[in-house]
Formats: sequence, structure tokens, C-alpha cells
Amino acid sequence: MANEFDLIARYFSRPAPTGFLGVGDDCALLPVRPGFQLATSTDLLIEGRHFFADVDPSTLGHKALAVNLSDLAAMGAKPVACLLSLSLPQADADWLKGFSDGFYALAKETHCPLVGGDTARSPSGITISVTVLGEIQPGKAMLRSGAQPDDDIWVSGTLGAADIALRLLQKKLPDNATLLAATRSALERPQPQLLLGQCLAGIAHAALDISDGLVQDLGHILNASGCGAQLDYDALPVDAALAGLPLNVQQEAVLGGGDVYQLCFTAPAHQRDYILAQAQSVAVRVTRIGRITRQRGVLIKDSRGRSITPPSMGFDHFA
Ligand code: ADP
Ligand code: MG
Repeated sequence: MANEFDLIARYFSRPAPTGFLGVGDDCALLPVRPGFQLATSTDLLIEGRHFFADVDPSTLGHKALAVNLSDLAAMGAKPVACLLSLSLPQADADWLKGFSDGFYALAKETHCPLVGGDTARSPSGITISVTVLGEIQPGKAMLRSGAQPDDDIWVSGTLGAADIALRLLQKKLPDNATLLAATRSALERPQPQLLLGQCLAGIAHAALDISDGLVQDLGHILNASGCGAQLDYDALPVDAALAGLPLNVQQEAVLGGGDVYQLCFTAPAHQRDYILAQAQSVAVRVTRIGRITRQRGVLIKDSRGRSITPPSMGFDHFA
């Protein structure tokens, strides 16, 4: 099969837009608009850790880019370009075709051309590293440190589906083909909230994307901002697919489940109507789920005022 250079030429050398120098030289060259800041982020996906060895390569290509774009979305940045580094045990043509098609499809949809990367053979297992580059106007980026007491806390989309799909695939929940069919795309084909993020830039005080679980990730905003939060459990946008599941299973998925790639953000109450209108203009559901408090810690209550103890929370690679 192909050597390294054939492989790159065959699967990862689709032309970059005019004004870009893409794959093929020692560096890519990107146009940078005057007056903008460059936003950049990188994420690793490791076989057996972040994805199952037998996952459909096209959905994996999509997800590898999606999780990175989600970081740009969380800052409010607009994609400019991306880089892809691959370490593969062998050059499997079917896998490479599927993976590159899935990757390029999302790159095209989000105007984030692939302009370079690296390719190497791995002794075992696939490792994928994607780096995204984006642009944003100075002062507009949504940092984790900007939340203020009395801000509303918002979340986009729905919660819990990806976690349920993961637990079904891991056989940690009893087999249920209907439930898997209803939740699988949340896990395998997350849609980065780029347009919403760009609408919120300059409006929201703080934001991040939920990769490790709502409560854990919200905790990053609270730590960085030096405040706490009160959440209304009954306001949370529980994914409709979870309806028939026991309450404790739903709660764990909604509060602690990772791989969500929705935005959690805080904003002053006077922006409510504006935020709802902006979200509607980009056809994304947003829900107000609580408020930022001066008092540290996270308090979760249902609408009858009963406290809910968050389940063992979030994901930590070195826990
Ligand atoms: P270098 O010797 O500088 O490391 P390489 O021979 O590794 O360059 O890569 C040749 C070209 O192909 C470079 O432009 C590099 O950015 C690009 N490239 C390598 N692997 C990938 C990949 N997986 N996806 C996109 N571009 C890649
Ligand atoms: Mg190289």
C-alpha cells in the first residue's frame, strides 16, 4: 500500500481556498485579517480511550474535527483553518477514505480548510491530533473567567444523549436498540455550535463547551471566575430520548455525562431576549438553567426546592 507521501497526496491534499498555501510545503500560509486575534486549540483522540477501534471511520473523521471546532465555538471564534496529525498502525485504504471524507465534509461545511499536518506509523492503535485556528476581534472572546454574580447560566441544545449512547455501547446499560438509535448521533456526530458562539461573543460574560460533563465543566467557569452557581434541575434540557429511563440514570447522564459539545455560558439578565433572538436566528435551542452566585459551590435544586446531589462527576483522565 501507499507510502507516507502517497497517503498524504491521496487522502489529505484537497485544495485549500484561494489565498491559502495548503498541504505540500514545510508550512501552510494563512491569510490573517488585520485587527483580529488568532484563536487556536488542539485535541487528541486515542483509540480505546476516546473512540472504539471499530467506530465508523467517517463519523470518527467528523468527530475529530468537531470536538476541536467546539473549542473555537466556546470562545466565539470563527474557523480559519485546521491541521491533522495521524499516527496509524497501517495504511488501511477503506479507513482512510472514510475518515478523510468525514473530516473534509465538516471542514467544508464550517469553512475550516485542512492546510497541513503530520503522518506517522504507530506501533499499535490509532492516534489523531487536530489543531484548529480561528479568528476573533480583540476583547470579544468568551473566557472562562468572566462570569459575574447574578448572571444567568445557559446551555445550548440538549443534555444526556451522548452519555447514554456511550453507556449502551460499553454495555453498562442493558441492550436497547431503539435507545441507541436515538442517542448515537449525539455521541458520534456532535455539531459544534460555531454560529451560536459567534453570536454570543461580546455578549456572554463567560463560556465553555461541555466535553467532560455539565457540572464539572461549569466548575471550571466558577473556579476561574471566583463564584458559585445555583442550578434548577427541572429547567435542564434533558434529551427527549432519555424519557423512559430511571431518574437516577437520567440525572447522571445530564449532570455528569461528557461528550456533549454544547455551550454552557453566562450572561447578564438584561440580555435574555437578545440571546433568545440570536439563538433562534441560528436555529439553536438555548435554555436558562440557573444563575451565578457569590457563594462558592454548585447547588442543584428541583422545582419543589429539593436538593439534588450531583452523581460522581465528569471525566478525568488521571483520576
Ligand atoms: P515535514 O517533512 O515538514 O514534516 P511531511 O512530509 O510530514 O512534512 O508532510 C508533507 C506535507 O503534507 C506538509 O505540508 C504537511 O503539512 C502535510 N501533511 C502531512 N500529513 C498530513 C495530514 N495527515 N493531513 C494534512 N496534511 C498533512
Ligand atoms: Mg512530517
